Amino acid sequence: MSATGTLYIVSAPSGAGKTSLVKALVDTQQQVRVSVSHTTRAMRPGEVDGVNYHFVTREDFLERLEHNEFLEHAEVFGNLYGTSQRWLEQTLEEGYDLILEIDWQGAQQVRRLMPQARSIFILPPTQDALRQRLTNRGQDSDEIIERRMREAVSEMSHYVEYDYLVINDDFAHALADLQAIFRANQLRQATQQQRYGSLLSRLLA
Ligand code: 5GP
Repeated sequence: MSATGTLYIVSAPSGAGKTSLVKALVDTQQQVRVSVSHTTRAMRPGEVDGVNYHFVTREDFLERLEHNEFLEHAEVFGNLYGTSQRWLEQTLEEGYDLILEIDWQGAQQVRRLMPQARSIFILPPTQDALRQRLTNRGQDSDEIIERRMREAVSEMSHYVEYDYLVINDDFAHALADLQAIFRANQLRQATQQQRYGSLLSRLLA
């Protein structure tokens, strides 16, 4: 791989199915990687350190912040989250497309620094569907679920800042929409020119 990859920002309210959709997308796309953020939030059952997140203490996080290790960072639900700048740059230089699963605050910071990034907002079909998914996950208490519902509405109001909107009513349909966004971007002339440099030279010889 010699081309420089595309950076994607994917945001969604908690419970919209973002993580499952991104995982399914990455399973079908060899050249796409997902950034593993640092967070100070407690690990949920089934999560693995270094896979879902790098779980760190607040002290560790603040030290990394001081050393400018994060491209962006934000406080969400009282926990700190941040994206490692070095890993991001390396991965893009290796030619991989890279997905950041971050909130709207992080998305605003990344857009300012890297205006070429494409951003996608995933929405649930209804508020009820969102509440149902949060409840079915069985990972959070009722109080946290109600708080997340309120936060979700406020998060969703930022959809206008994004390039693409995907409604996750039917999983397979939403996945196909995501794949279409990635495929179309991979076919952009500038990207294809890098990928097929020698083919183009032969055609024009
Ligand atoms: P959760 O704790 O449910 O995994 O994530 C809570 C929120 O934090 C989600 O909106 C998620 O996208 C966001 N988030 C996760 N990692 C990062 C990050 O590195 N930066 C920012 N700004 N938000 C993040």
